[in-house]
Amino acid sequence: MNNIKWEELPFGYRKTNYNVRCYWKDGKWGELEISSSEVINLHMASTALHYGQEAFEGMKAFKGKDGKIRLFRWEENAKRLQNSADGIMMAKPSTELFYQAIEKAVLMNKEYVPPYGTGASLYIRPLLIGSGPQVGVKPSEEYLFLVFVTPVGPYFKEGFNPVSVQIVRDFDRAAPLGTGTYKVGGNYAASLQAGVRAHQEGYAASLFLDAKEKEYIDEAGPANFFGIKGNTYVTPKSTSILPSITNKSIVTLAEDMGLKVERRQIPVEELEEFDEVGACGTAAVISPIKKIEDRDTGKVFEYCKEGKAGPISTKLFHRLLAIQYGEEEDKFGWVTTLNE
Ligand SMILES: *Cc1c(COP(=O)(O)O)cnc(C)c1O
Repeated sequence: MNNIKWEELPFGYRKTNYNVRCYWKDGKWGELEISSSEVINLHMASTALHYGQEAFEGMKAFKGKDGKIRLFRWEENAKRLQNSADGIMMAKPSTELFYQAIEKAVLMNKEYVPPYGTGASLYIRPLLIGSGPQVGVKPSEEYLFLVFVTPVGPYFKEGFNPVSVQIVRDFDRAAPLGTGTYKVGGNYAASLQAGVRAHQEGYAASLFLDAKEKEYIDEAGPANFFGIKGNTYVTPKSTSILPSITNKSIVTLAEDMGLKVERRQIPVEELEEFDEVGACGTAAVISPIKKIEDRDTGKVFEYCKEGKAGPISTKLFHRLLAIQYGEEEDKFGWVTTLNE
């Protein structure tokens, strides 16, 4: 048993009992292995370390009102990891192998799935890396697929509270035809300077613009962007943003609630016209945004005039959580209940 105070759990790493590993060698995946070590033994010339052959996923398992453990749209994470693997030429786990690994990682660490009602969940981190040596620039001939889990509290300790973000032009997260659509570590490395500076300057995140014209909103460091204008949900269309599964789900919920959805370029000046704006991703689900400051022009866009999130963002946030925790009927077939 563990003595975790679930209500005080931060969003961070915490050791659990086991992780799951599978190695690609000689052109095929081996057997799933269970490990109780937090350490991996990696060749010093591995392509993950030298040439950035690294992709990951982020998803959550939830303990429902009925005590059952649920996964949310795991097939989408499997597909996205496969797409990231193709994008940087890594061997990819099959959908079946992906499922077996996450199921095993969750069930082996059942005691770490936070109880219902605490606002916490079990974060699942699948990782795929080139583990074989290369000195010339070539894809690795060996890969490691690893899944670890860690219990996490809500992303924002203060709850569903609006944050401020900062538009930057002196950094790009990803190039227009680069790796922005893949969930790879390199994009995060590229976003660190802007992200750390944004924190130092008092913002929760930086908001990147399209790398080519610097006219359109791309996405926040680790989250997609959306705006709500009247009865329309608008989210950027770009070749350098990561297709967020949270965003895709919110789009479906918005349509289900009778909103119109537009996926298109969002010019910076249009920020003036939105009633609500937010960032979305697995970690926080929705982070409502109260203020966007353009770091170069000093222009400020303000939302949440009453100090709290707008009505549509709030509704979307609660509906998505209700589906994830099994409180609301899963009418879109998003949830997989694990057999314990
Ligand atoms: C993971 C990620 C997101 C959010 O995707 P979800 O599937 O909603 O968790 C958004 N942007 C970037 C850059 C990401 O890496």
